[in-house]
Amino acid sequence: MLHGLISLAVMVSPTYIGTKCARPCLVKTCLVLAHLHTKKTGKGLLKAKRVTSIRSSLAWLVAVCLLPAIVMAAVLLTYDYQRQRAELVRDTLAHARAMMYLVDREFAGAEMSLRTLSTSPSLAGRDFAAFQSQSMDVLRKHYANNIVLIDATGQQLINTARPYGQALPKANNMAQLERVLKSGRPDVSDLFIGPVLKRPLINVAVPVYSGSVVTHSLVAVVLPEHLQKMLEGYRFPEERIAIIVDRSGAIVARNRDAERHIGERVSAQLTQRMGETEEGLLESVSRDGIPVLTVFARSAATGWGVVVGIPIAVLTADLWRSLSLLVGLAALLLTSSVGLAWFMGGRVVRPVRALRSVALEIGYGKAVAVPELGIREVDEVGRALAQASSRLAAANEALIDSEARMRGIVESATDAIVILDDSGNIVLFNFAAVTMFGCSREQAIGTPFNRFIPERLRADFAAQLLTQREESHPEQGGASAEVALAMRSNGEEFQVEISFPQVLAGTSEVRTLILRDITARVRIQKALERSNLDLQQFAFVASHDLKTPLRSIGGFVQILERNHAASLDDKALALIRRTSDAVRRLEQLTDDLLSYARVSSHPKPFILVQVREVVNDVMQLLGAAIDDSGSVVTVGDMPEVLGDRTQLVQLLLNLIGNGIKYCQGRTPVVRVSAHRAEREWVFCVADNGIGIDARHHEKVFEVFKRLHTQQEYPGTGIGLAVCRRVVEHHGGRIWVESAPDEGSTFSFTIPDTSAESSSP
Ligand code: ADP
Repeated sequence: MLHGLISLAVMVSPTYIGTKCARPCLVKTCLVLAHLHTKKTGKGLLKAKRVTSIRSSLAWLVAVCLLPAIVMAAVLLTYDYQRQRAELVRDTLAHARAMMYLVDREFAGAEMSLRTLSTSPSLAGRDFAAFQSQSMDVLRKHYANNIVLIDATGQQLINTARPYGQALPKANNMAQLERVLKSGRPDVSDLFIGPVLKRPLINVAVPVYSGSVVTHSLVAVVLPEHLQKMLEGYRFPEERIAIIVDRSGAIVARNRDAERHIGERVSAQLTQRMGETEEGLLESVSRDGIPVLTVFARSAATGWGVVVGIPIAVLTADLWRSLSLLVGLAALLLTSSVGLAWFMGGRVVRPVRALRSVALEIGYGKAVAVPELGIREVDEVGRALAQASSRLAAANEALIDSEARMRGIVESATDAIVILDDSGNIVLFNFAAVTMFGCSREQAIGTPFNRFIPERLRADFAAQLLTQREESHPEQGGASAEVALAMRSNGEEFQVEISFPQVLAGTSEVRTLILRDITARVRIQKALERSNLDLQQFAFVASHDLKTPLRSIGGFVQILERNHAASLDDKALALIRRTSDAVRRLEQLTDDLLSYARVSSHPKPFILVQVREVVNDVMQLLGAAIDDSGSVVTVGDMPEVLGDRTQLVQLLLNLIGNGIKYCQGRTPVVRVSAHRAEREWVFCVADNGIGIDARHHEKVFEVFKRLHTQQEYPGTGIGLAVCRRVVEHHGGRIWVESAPDEGSTFSFTIPDTSAESSSP
């Protein structure tokens, strides 16, 4: 399946990458799979990994599973063979022993007869004729071919095979005679050719004593045919080759092909082994050239032995039969199992191949329907693929929609939006940018953005761009705006407000610039500043110029009252007093307007000001009012701030003065305090006066806004407006917290510009 997907990826990736509807996720998948393909085909950096098919894997699996069973069966067979072999050897050895026992018993029987015969008085009386006839009697009772009496010189004295008195030859088995004479013990000879019968035979000899001296050897002649008969009479299991061998290793009897082999010698290896041990086992080749396992039992009494050969073929016949059966079965089992595995593999391969075409369809972003393929797991994969395809298709549509929306937003934005690549070249240039810079999209894309920055400022702009990237924080949007000079394609320079928003695509940052043409705004701002200044100048000049005639009117009214009071009636005097009051109020109003206008029209450079000293000045200025009203003014620790001392006096004079003024009969208590907030000082002026309803908390800071009549509380309604202006001029804020009859707390802030601030 992976192979299929890889092929799909290889087919799809070059087609889709770079097209409009390329989906990042699909492209990524394609790239990964294509990379895998590169690895697989060995054309990439890494060497290809061997890929096996499902069929061959299944076939191998079956073969590998069967193999241990086959090996185990072979091991069991071998073990069984070993066991059978040991059993056979044991059994054969028992037969050899039994046969050996029979041979020994035969020789012992002859020996016994001879011993009895050797004590015959006729022998002691040297009546050999009687002795021969006695011997003939013995032969009738016990088996021996003939009996021979041999004297110490080797001369045969009687031989039952010849009539008594016939001339007899000398014995030719002198070695046996010597052994008997010397040892005085019975002896069984090896197979040899007898001098009388002139044929192979065996002598069983016993000594004949005359007192304590051995004078003769009495011999019973045993023909090999007798032993042959015994051997044949013994029922050895079929296929066994049994032989009786004499001391010298000559074959005396053989249960098969006796005529051919009697008298031959067994192998030197067997003779040697028989000389070393009474029973044994060795592998050899029989006289017939048959490989045999040879088992032997040797007689301790005579040195003769019985050798039984088991043809190896007999031994291994069973093994071969079982092995060939096993091989046949294993071959049959392997063939049928591997064939079945191959067949089953085929059943899996077909549906999997069917999924390949499904995967290809998905690659084209289509929602596909997968038919039931008959294998549960494959069907599960199929269903998952179908689901994935519909999700992918939906995601694709959503992506296309979202892309279209985003494109629409970007294109309809009034600000120029430009996206740069890592080298600073333009990759996106929206419609507003086209209009702003007077450059078509085709001309702009792929060119460096700094072409829109005046040449002399390009280095600074590049540095600024770099700083912005380093200092910006994506989580905060990174969109700090700066004013810069840009250049249209016709070379016209203009002012822009430029921001560098941090846009992240996955983990990589998209270098985006948002530019706003502020030429018109700057123009309006300048005009506004100019008109403000003019207005302030006008207010300043007007109020200043108003003061002189006002002061003259006030003086004239005072002169009129002082010099002509006696000649004027009460009505005229009242009018004069009212005129005098109006002039005073107008003077006050002019003063207040003047100070309001002064706050920004005559800005002075800020200096370090001890606020405590400012409060002290204010207390002095308010000395009479404090004394008259019996006010209590408390002042907390005051900090040092950077500001305009005169304006700060004005500010606190208004706030403390109002605290004393708006108390309606009660003794005013005013508290002035300051505390440190994050980066500023917060000053509070709190009183116990009449308080202000919440709905007027904002209004009271506006010019001419008063909550009372002149009769209730005299005033111009400019004091708090001046306060706000002063505070804002110092970069702070002002507000009031109050409720009717619960006193008021006016608070304002002044930024703490000292490097190391300390608490008051
Ligand atoms: P003025 O005091 O000359 O009338 P301000 O601008 O100082 O003008 O005050 C504006 C209005 O705010 C006042 O008319 C008064 O009603 C109200 N006000 C100012 N300070 C206080 C205060 N401490 N307690 C109650 N009301 C006050």
